[in-house]
Amino acid sequence: METFFNLIQEVQKPGLCHRCGGCVTFCTAINFGALELDDDGKPRYGDIEKCIECGLCYSICPEINELEEEIRREAAWSAPDGRIIETTVARAKDPAGRKNATDGGVITALLLHLFDSGRIDGAIVTKPAGPFKRRPCLATAREEIADAAGFYFDTSHGMKHMSDKYITYSSIEEFAPMVTKGLRRVALVGTPCQINAFRRMEAMGIVPSDSITVCFGLFCSGNFTFTDEDQAKLAADHDFSWNDVKKINIKQTFMVHLNNGEKRQIPLEDLDFMKRYACNYCADYTAEFSDISFGGIGAADGWTTVIIRTPLGRAIFADARNRAIEEFPASDNPAFASEAAGAMRRASEKKKKMAAENRQELGAKPVNIKN
Ligand SMILES: Cc1cc2nc3c(=O)[nH]c(=O)nc-3n(C[C@H](O)[C@H](O)[C@H](O)COP(=O)(O)OP(=O)(O)OC[C@H]3O[C@@H](n4cnc5c(N)ncnc54)[C@H](O)[C@@H]3O)c2cc1C
Ligand code: SF4
Ligand code: SF4
Ligand code: SF4
Repeated sequence: METFFNLIQEVQKPGLCHRCGGCVTFCTAINFGALELDDDGKPRYGDIEKCIECGLCYSICPEINELEEEIRREAAWSAPDGRIIETTVARAKDPAGRKNATDGGVITALLLHLFDSGRIDGAIVTKPAGPFKRRPCLATAREEIADAAGFYFDTSHGMKHMSDKYITYSSIEEFAPMVTKGLRRVALVGTPCQINAFRRMEAMGIVPSDSITVCFGLFCSGNFTFTDEDQAKLAADHDFSWNDVKKINIKQTFMVHLNNGEKRQIPLEDLDFMKRYACNYCADYTAEFSDISFGGIGAADGWTTVIIRTPLGRAIFADARNRAIEEFPASDNPAFASEAAGAMRRASEKKKKMAAENRQELGAKPVNIKN
């Protein structure tokens, strides 16, 4: 029976741990809690004597192929980017809902619509935690869901904030409070690796995955962290000061919006030096196992590209259409949906190619420990 020990050898040592938190969450929820996350969100043994060698952590890890075929079958996955029922571009209907959003505020608008119509009891999101931090949060009130929208910026700590925002939070840590509170209908918002780990839990029928009713996935080109020197380098290389930054988001490029209305568009390759190591081996750009995926790529500023993947996702979107959200007007650009789909497809292809090449290279290298 493989256990967390095997995850250390096969996943952590080669540097492939996404820090999705899946292993820790389930060890804690189901067993005696042998695992814990360190301060950087990396899983480790908290108390190895509590390991009952059930093997669940091993099976749910997105880096382990055991359940890959099953989750693909369940999702009716097809190449190249998983099941796609419809691609569109949309934004929150309420201008107030777009104010703090990353892009068009569609995720928050859909969550609020589901909450207001009594279809979910809460949502696992991330929220500001102190002035410059975001933490995973089980939001069970309307205000909490709204406050978790997109962007949160402080001029004096801009980069710190940005790194918190674009980090992979172990959102599924919030499963424990969900169980304690007895919630049965919760929406999960997460990066592709988090959604993938969740689908593996679901495939095994492990509690509390049955309490998650819908998965909203974020497009993801990588998770970025960087030092003070890296921050200074980015600002110097691209001629801006962090004190002048109003908002940051990721589309085809890393976009820095300045207070004076100017924009800096930084090629994503220029951020490679601060990308988390494991992200170089990740092939999922569009959260292929979610019910609906969201990103900024391919959409005009202030709008979100939306991929509806499952009948559940389609029903949720249809119910919110023209009530909580509005679609991009075809009169402005009849090709808006196909252009968004094309941009998404190209970015996804690029990420898959990069991951395949890097994995091939990794196969030739001796195992070494990376963070
Ligand atoms: C690490 C990361 C990388 C991304 N890379 C790309 C990219 O390369 N290309 C692209 O087109 N889009 C990317 N996105 C997605 C994009 O930034 C927006 O989240 C998306 O377009 C939805 O915008 P919105 O305005 O509709 O969402 P909003 O209404 O602003 O809601 C966003 C929701 O996501 C939650 N959230 C924010 N950060 C995280 C997180 N780290 N983990 C879990 N939940 C979170 C918030 O709590 C909120 O509920 C990335 C997002 C993240 C977090
Ligand atoms: S008890 Fe099970 S889930 Fe926890 S570390 Fe051991 S094998 Fe993994
Ligand atoms: S990728 Fe996720 S499940 Fe696998 S070891 Fe890392 S945190 Fe655990
Ligand atoms: S690129 Fe995104 S989805 Fe992939 S491992 Fe990194 S954070 Fe997770």
